Amino acid sequence: MAKLQSLFSMRHLLVLSLALNVSLILRIIYDSQLDLFFYKYPHQGQISNLHTHNKPRLLISSSFSNSSSSSTCEDHHQPPPKNNNRVINLDHGDPRVYEAFWRETGEKTTIRIAGWQSMSYFSDVSNVCWFLEPEFAEEVVRLHRVVGNAVTEDRHLVVGTGSSQLFLAALYALSPTHSPQPISVVSASPYYSSYPSMTDYQKSGLYKWGGDADKFDKSGPYIELVTSPNNPDGCVRRSVLNRSEGLLVHDLAYYWPQYTPISSPSNHDLTLFTLSKTTGHAGMRIGWALVKDKEVAKKMTKFIELNTIGVSKDSQLRAAKVLRAVSDSCELQGGGESFFQFSHKIMSDRWKQLREAVQRSNGFFSVPTFSPSFCTFFNQNLEPHPAFVWLKCERNVEDCESFLRGHNILTRSGTHFGVSQQYVRISMLDTDENFMHFLHRLSTINFR
Ligand code: PMP
Repeated sequence: MAKLQSLFSMRHLLVLSLALNVSLILRIIYDSQLDLFFYKYPHQGQISNLHTHNKPRLLISSSFSNSSSSSTCEDHHQPPPKNNNRVINLDHGDPRVYEAFWRETGEKTTIRIAGWQSMSYFSDVSNVCWFLEPEFAEEVVRLHRVVGNAVTEDRHLVVGTGSSQLFLAALYALSPTHSPQPISVVSASPYYSSYPSMTDYQKSGLYKWGGDADKFDKSGPYIELVTSPNNPDGCVRRSVLNRSEGLLVHDLAYYWPQYTPISSPSNHDLTLFTLSKTTGHAGMRIGWALVKDKEVAKKMTKFIELNTIGVSKDSQLRAAKVLRAVSDSCELQGGGESFFQFSHKIMSDRWKQLREAVQRSNGFFSVPTFSPSFCTFFNQNLEPHPAFVWLKCERNVEDCESFLRGHNILTRSGTHFGVSQQYVRISMLDTDENFMHFLHRLSTINFR
């Protein structure tokens, strides 16, 4: 004991306590930074994981490549990012990428709504969809004609609070009313990660998530969701089941020229589009459905009536203005760049830079390759530039999401899309600043 006392004198204890206090203070500072991040990005799963096994690692950047590559946005001219502790969140597909275009349009896309306007619940009582603003409907039809991506003749147009609401309206409208069992809702994997949870979160007695369409072997009616080009992997898709009892919902959120060559006007029974991915105005919460069958359109309208008694008129009027600006930019070009020329160029620049970064990983990462095909809108052969990168970790990394999280890059694991955790989905639609940070961060990873 006397020996121990001589080993740990009062001075030793003081030094020890000082060291413990300093480490405690550093820990609090570190945690408060994460809390700040949590406030900004309240995605629960990410945070618990960040706390458990994501300690920011400082790696020394070898070089900042591509900083001078072609660019259409002012942010690109910022100096290379330096801070490797900054968390880059590319989990969500928040479409901030087109902001520069809309900033330029100024007054052309600004609307004023006087206090007395948009007051009634009703828009056009003669329409199946009685809350559809005629001005918005007109611009939707015009844009599909200008782009050539959808047949609108003999279709009922149903507006929704985002295509998310229309997705639920479609499930409601297509489900048999008096069936003893809920109808199965399926989609080929990798499928859009929200489909399973959106289908099942209310535990509806009408419909139920049935998983991967490729593995679906139940007989009887079903609803198949066909997303083309697909979120997450960008592939052009068709129904995989093709059975007579199948009801199809085509989610064409990304069937626009900046993401994929337009091959022909889509012509399905029930098709969903969203302003979020068309023009980037996700915050307006506007989507639309083109529906062949009047009874289905009526039931979808009923769902929205029961759900939100219509769709914001203010948003529809603003959406009409934005869509008009897009069509005008394509049809009345006075030498300026159309919205789709602008957005196509950005997506193509981003994909070029991304592919170069993936190539520098020497086989550590891989991304899908796409063959060019003829685009009737741009009148030339073009490669697709999907809104997401479907990245695969090829070497000895089982959990790609955790690996990238270790480098402070937040992505969405393949498991959410019904496939292995070797895959992650990464948004290509974020701000220029975040995208450049992302490329820079990739360049700092030591692949040896
Ligand atoms: N479908 C797909 C395939 C999507 O990627 C998204 C947006 N991530 C949606 C639907 C939902 O779009 P909205 O913002 O219109 O609800």
